[in-house]
Amino acid sequence: MSREHVAVIGAGLTGSLLAAYLGRRGYRVDVYERRSDPRVTGAERGRSINLALSERGIDALRRIGLADQVLAGALPMHGRMVHPLDGEANFQPYSLAGDRAINSIGRGALNDALLDAAEQTAGVTVHFDHPLTGLDPETGTLGFADGTQAKADIVLGADGSGSAVRGLLLAYAGERFDETVSFLDYGYKELTIPARDGEFALDPGALHIWPRGTSMMIALPNPDRSFTGTLFWPMGGTGSFASLGSPAAVERHFRRHYPDLLELIPGLADDYRHNPVGLLGTVHCGPWQMLGRVALIGDAAHAIVPFYGQGANAAFEDVVELDRCLDATGDDWAAALPAYEKGRRENSEAIAAMALANFVEMRDKVADPLFKLGKSIEHT
Ligand code: FAD
Repeated sequence: MSREHVAVIGAGLTGSLLAAYLGRRGYRVDVYERRSDPRVTGAERGRSINLALSERGIDALRRIGLADQVLAGALPMHGRMVHPLDGEANFQPYSLAGDRAINSIGRGALNDALLDAAEQTAGVTVHFDHPLTGLDPETGTLGFADGTQAKADIVLGADGSGSAVRGLLLAYAGERFDETVSFLDYGYKELTIPARDGEFALDPGALHIWPRGTSMMIALPNPDRSFTGTLFWPMGGTGSFASLGSPAAVERHFRRHYPDLLELIPGLADDYRHNPVGLLGTVHCGPWQMLGRVALIGDAAHAIVPFYGQGANAAFEDVVELDRCLDATGDDWAAALPAYEKGRRENSEAIAAMALANFVEMRDKVADPLFKLGKSIEHT
């Protein structure tokens, strides 16, 4: 049977997984990725080095036989370890029913595994160094930064929160397309807590949080026994990224607010100076599909702030839902794409709101003794 030719834009977590799923359905899939092959060049510095993968994401991997391989390199985190400014760290289990955990996993390793899986699937080709710059939704004509063109029957934008496909749909559809991107007035910066004498410097079975009211730091373990810490700080005002311009000011701030971290991060001044401040935003847009042939998926459709640790997990659920809709419609894309949007849109809005609410919980409420006693916690 002749199947449509599909173009996937972006070979991040969503695009790679999606290509593997579609290849298995028998489609010819061309994936166009802006960057060079990360398996050759390595990951970009300061770009969320690890992430928490939960059952929602693992389910998507399990369906194509990748879960065991990916989880072999993961570290289960059974709860939060909260580090107050004064007093002992305290552990808050995520689940009081059984031994459930979320898994700390390297973004690079996960992306590499998904890229390998995509490329090993018959019919899938990944084209690196191909930034998409143009799209005609009516003909499926794609334009790239180097002036080359390609064509596909179906175009799926998996190109992340700043999606070019989304921008091109907006340019095409005008008022028929809604887009809101709301940025938090907080940013993030990553810092490394290296291994000490070859061992983890903190308990690797927990996600660590230093809640400080209006800001916080978190840390997730890595297989090399380091932790990746992420500062979530205001962009402006006192105690913000903007206010701490010199290594001495950074050290003073840490001595006052994170004294235990000062000795755990020997490279603080260097990391702080060199690692970029990332922005945090929520994307709301719609419709997610047009003409039954162009659609958005993953962060391109619904980027969220990271405080629930669910952005990639939700993106993987999108892929499973689209696959399910193709099953249900006998691979009729004109029916499957609207069904996929219907199946996922409300859930995405819900997790976007919960992720914003969880920022307040993590940076503030987890330090409250009443909160600790009264709540069974199922998430970060
Ligand atoms: P991306 O990962 O952004 O990938 C998009 C890809 O498209 C990239 O490879 C990019 O190079 C490519 N691209 C972009 N533009 C173009 C173009 N014009 N042409 C071609 N290619 C293009 N999620 C979790 O589930 N758990 C967590 O613990 C977690 N922690 C996070 C912590 C931080 C600090 C941040 C910022 C995010 C976190 N997330 C987490 C969210 C998660 O990172 C995203 O949801 C996930 O990366 C989305 O994958 P994606 O493939 O849709 O987008």
